[in-house]
Amino acid sequence: MPTFINPRDRFPTDDLCLYRDKLKENRNYPNLDKNKKTRICVIGAGFTGLLSAYYLKEYGFDVVVVERHRVGWGASGRNSGQVIPGYNQDIRVIARKYGEDIAKVSYQATVEALGEIRRLIEKHSIDCDFKPGLTITATNKKSNDDLGDHIEFLREKVGYKTDFIDANETAKDIGTTLYEGAMRDNFAGCFNPLKYITSIAAICAEMGVEIYEETPALILKKTASGKMEITTPKAIITADKVIAAGDAYQGRLLPNLRKKYVLLRTSMLATEVLSDDLYEQILPSNHAVFEWQNLTNYYTKTADKRLIFGGGDAPLTRNKSEEEKAFKSVYGEMIKLYPALQNIHITHWWGGYFSATLNELPQIGCIDNKIHYALGFCGHGVVPTHMSARLMAARIAEDKNLSQENPDFAKAFRTGNIPFAGKYDHHLVGLGMIWHKIKDML
Ligand SMILES: Cc1cc2nc3c(=O)[nH]c(=O)nc-3n(C[C@H](O)[C@H](O)[C@H](O)COP(=O)(O)OP(=O)(O)OC[C@H]3O[C@@H](n4cnc5c(N)ncnc54)[C@H](O)[C@@H]3O)c2cc1C
Repeated sequence: MPTFINPRDRFPTDDLCLYRDKLKENRNYPNLDKNKKTRICVIGAGFTGLLSAYYLKEYGFDVVVVERHRVGWGASGRNSGQVIPGYNQDIRVIARKYGEDIAKVSYQATVEALGEIRRLIEKHSIDCDFKPGLTITATNKKSNDDLGDHIEFLREKVGYKTDFIDANETAKDIGTTLYEGAMRDNFAGCFNPLKYITSIAAICAEMGVEIYEETPALILKKTASGKMEITTPKAIITADKVIAAGDAYQGRLLPNLRKKYVLLRTSMLATEVLSDDLYEQILPSNHAVFEWQNLTNYYTKTADKRLIFGGGDAPLTRNKSEEEKAFKSVYGEMIKLYPALQNIHITHWWGGYFSATLNELPQIGCIDNKIHYALGFCGHGVVPTHMSARLMAARIAEDKNLSQENPDFAKAFRTGNIPFAGKYDHHLVGLGMIWHKIKDML
């Protein structure tokens, strides 16, 4: 059993997130206590919100960001930091459903966004432990064949080149013989997401973006004069346009959008700092890794020499025992791969919510030419949030170079409502998990 070291109540939930615990530069932003007028109000200070603010400021807009909790409090400050192109949905499914042109253009937009993340890190010397290298591992013969086909598709139809490696090479890279083969992607990579997003917030603030923490947007409405009014606990913001960037944490601020997704929680663990021997033995390639199956495990080593590991079963309710079960399931998966870790302390554990849509693709759109939104990244959002932020900012700025994709994949990706979403998410997620488990076993 894991020997959890349990310093309680250090995070707004019972979680103890490694990144938050170790964050050195934890700049605070005030809460809003006076009414404000601005061109753009961004709701939510994660990747989607803050990158939108960054690009809008570059276009010369006044921007106010309001965040219910702290910068990076949502999934953006808790994820495993894998900076990967593409979407949660398989590119071949996208091609089948929406055509090869849409598949190609939409995938290339994420490759461009990945390059942009790397450029931003370099341009602003962002200290976020970025390291290049991602390996996607095949858990059985069937998934290995499928991964090979996927690699081929990416190379032939999208023009994105990665390497297919065999079981021996995979074992050398990952430090376990449990995989059949893998895809190695040297352009993708991994970072500490909280260091990254708090740095982006600081850069935005220096550029003149006003950021307010502990300032929830409670009501959003259009006034008779056509302006948007955002009511917060102590003040009202009047804006020309709004970017709704609250993703899974948005609640019912935009009730019609809430029908488009269900909430899913995924859980992560961090080991104590590993001895030099263990550090060499576990994941020798030092890549970020995720598994090529529906219910996936994902892991990497951190700059301070721990293993962070996520995945396992999703908790089906917010009940504590259900969350504990989920942590144990993640732990079990980690030990299956790396039995050498069984006597190692687990010092941190945390989870976070993401939103999942019917077609497993993000929804990027605009309501009434006033409220731009991007959500539904389905657990694969680090890069697509950046892409969406750039797209929304370009649309607001009417930047013809960027705002008119040809073909318009964001429009093609729009999907229907999920029956009972927002009411019975846990039941829907439970059914979805059973279905995915069966598919993984077939
Ligand atoms: C544990 C975990 C691991 C993951 N790992 C990866 C990974 O390795 N790679 C990958 O690509 N993706 C990963 N994801 C998914 C990825 O993190 C998300 O898709 C992405 O961070 C979403 O960013 P966002 O800015 O849209 O939303 P969030 O980061 O969730 O930010 C939304 C913010 O809006 C605020 N907010 C909401 N409503 C209001 C309101 N009314 N007023 C004010 N503020 C509000 C919230 O407090 C929150 O801070 C992971 C997700 C989780 C949970």
